[in-house]
Amino acid sequence: MASLLAWTQPRPDMETSPYEWEASWENDFKRNYDPPSRLPASGGLSLYIPPAKIATLGLNEDAQLQRTEHQTKVVLATHRILVDLATRLMPDFVPRWTRAPERGRREFTMLALRRYMGTGLRVDMDVHRRWCPESSLVYITADDGARYVALLRAYLDAAPQTDGGAAFVPPHPAVDRLLTLSESERANLYYRRFAHKVRIDRGVFLVELVKDVFLTWYCQTEGLTRPRTLGPMSVRQHTARMPRDVAKETRREMKELGGTSRVPECNFCNVRPGTGQKLQACSKCRKIDRLVYYCSAECQQRDWKQGTPRPHRQICGKPFSDEDLAA
Ligand SMILES: [Zn+2]
Ligand SMILES: [Zn+2]
Repeated sequence: MASLLAWTQPRPDMETSPYEWEASWENDFKRNYDPPSRLPASGGLSLYIPPAKIATLGLNEDAQLQRTEHQTKVVLATHRILVDLATRLMPDFVPRWTRAPERGRREFTMLALRRYMGTGLRVDMDVHRRWCPESSLVYITADDGARYVALLRAYLDAAPQTDGGAAFVPPHPAVDRLLTLSESERANLYYRRFAHKVRIDRGVFLVELVKDVFLTWYCQTEGLTRPRTLGPMSVRQHTARMPRDVAKETRREMKELGGTSRVPECNFCNVRPGTGQKLQACSKCRKIDRLVYYCSAECQQRDWKQGTPRPHRQICGKPFSDEDLAA
């Protein structure tokens, strides 16, 4: 029982042996999470992650907490894009997806996975995926694609409120057991923060992947020929085969959302400064070395009252408190 979560390292190469690479993930998910009843009902985390490791993850640093805060924003924004797309395209998507041959679903899902995992820092993606057993190829494509449709419906049912609030992270019996803290773990600030961070990282990975599978499938239609180059899809490729109005809106949203890199961006509208435009730092936050920027006084005012995941006034110039980070 006290075995640590164990992950294959190194994995087969994603580019040259994608199915072997994916099989190593499938094995890892099985070994670590199946069956969920094997895991302790609560207090799982300290059995699996050594306390010393948790203490060294920067969980006492504002920059790390702000990063998690930013990730929460990404979950909320991506969730909105997904809801917007899927609501309109669901009636068309579901019959095509579920009636397609298994092989077709697998090819598309692999494509989306490789594109997604190939973006950003590979090591981050690897660590995030460990908490997402639903990201396995088998899970997404089996049962005539019904599990993926159920996941998509869960996102539609949990559509985020426009005025922020909590990020939706799909429940999972095994992962939730691990992240349910025991009494003694709850008393430890680092465990609480770690559990919160893992949930949000999981939220980002899943919502982005669910969206990417949807878009990859939707944009490429059946009869896929293996693309010559993988790499991240451009926004234009993403939207090339969508109805015009959906494409336009998606391009705008994707532009606003941008990546999750450390380029400064407006804390409210996420715009990045173009030429001739400058972001202003929040002065109270700067005093505690927290870098929060705005593109305009209007965005600053709106973030103050309606920011996500919480109004900025709650945390401006103050270190994050425990309640701010409550999972
Ligand atoms: Zn702005
Ligand atoms: Zn501030």
